Amino acid sequence: MKTSLTCLRCQKDTLHSVVYQGEIIRTIRCEECGLEISFDQKKLLALYGEDLVKRVLTKPRRLTEEYEKDLFAFFSSIPFRIVTKPYRILKELESLQDE
Ligand SMILES: [Zn+2]
Repeated sequence: MKTSLTCLRCQKDTLHSVVYQGEIIRTIRCEECGLEISFDQKKLLALYGEDLVKRVLTKPRRLTEEYEKDLFAFFSSIPFRIVTKPYRILKELESLQDE
């Protein structure tokens, strides 16, 4: 899924690829500079609450303008401290598979 969002690095609206893992957004990547944002879902849940996280990060049945607005607002409000590097997520997935 691709949508236009404000890139934190480019400081302007660029096309972003939104990658889902199952029904939940895993990463959002800027197509222009390649900046990739992934989310620590536990911290997101703690900060925003389950309802909002589910509403915004769960794959919509269809992409509506309202959803894009929600995603944009959400994305813009995310503090950097809850954004994790993609490799950490991969590590976590790998460690889950080991168990
Ligand atoms: Zn960018």
